[in-house]
Amino acid sequence: SLTLNNVKKRFGHVEVLKGIDIAIDDGDFLVLVGPSGCGKSTLLNMIAGLDSISDGEVSIGDVVINDLHPADRDIAMVFQSYALYPNMTVGQNISFGLEMRNVPKPERDRKINEVSSMLQIEHLLSRKPGQLSGGQRQRVAMGRALVRDPKIFLFDEPLSNLDAKLRVDMRTEIKRLHQRLSATIVYVTHDQIEAMTLATKIAVMKDGELQQLGSPAEVYDNPANTFVATFMGSPS
Ligand code: ATP
Ligand code: MG
Repeated sequence: SLTLNNVKKRFGHVEVLKGIDIAIDDGDFLVLVGPSGCGKSTLLNMIAGLDSISDGEVSIGDVVINDLHPADRDIAMVFQSYALYPNMTVGQNISFGLEMRNVPKPERDRKINEVSSMLQIEHLLSRKPGQLSGGQRQRVAMGRALVRDPKIFLFDEPLSNLDAKLRVDMRTEIKRLHQRLSATIVYVTHDQIEAMTLATKIAVMKDGELQQLGSPAEVYDNPANTFVATFMGSPS
């Protein structure tokens, strides 16, 4: 399970997360939605440990992970920009996180093969990111996360740079991966259909505050307030 307990983030005097409480179970697919600037990426960064928490606790199971280095958290993140290392090949990009953890080469190679065949990028392993299409980069970014075999995946608008057709294909693929790996996922998107088709739970945020957390049907059919109703496009 992943639990956020009264998580706050301040940048200087500005509080951008105002005490977020979220608890999800292993295997949940939590989709985080809300207007631009409401704090979604900031929240993912707190979970990943890429930025410090001003107040509150993030726990996996009953272990508080606030002070754990990102590499020591059982968490992998896929960014909107993909954030691939431009000077490394695809294979090196995928392998890097394993090398950092001193995984022996034979095992690294085995994992890279497994993940790249799952994502159908075997033929791209010796290319550099600059020689790939957007969709191929997206797969490599997923491969880099998958190869670490984390307990929790964080996705920050992973499909927003793809064209409509590819977006639908990748959505199906992510759904299949979730089922196959029974992974726990926190996924940010602006796409309502993506949210409704992928989520086991939806969290709606506004101005650094959680408005509602529930199943897609609960949030859509029983919005907690008019903001949620309007944002989700619920029938009135
Ligand atoms: P979007 O949907 O546009 O990606 P978001 O919900 O991910 O938005 P965040 O990136 O989490 O929003 O930003 C939340 C707020 O925190 C914004 O007002 C943003 O300007 C502010 N913010 C983010 N990072 C910093 C920073 N390093 N310093 C100061 N303010 C920041
Ligand atoms: Mg964001």
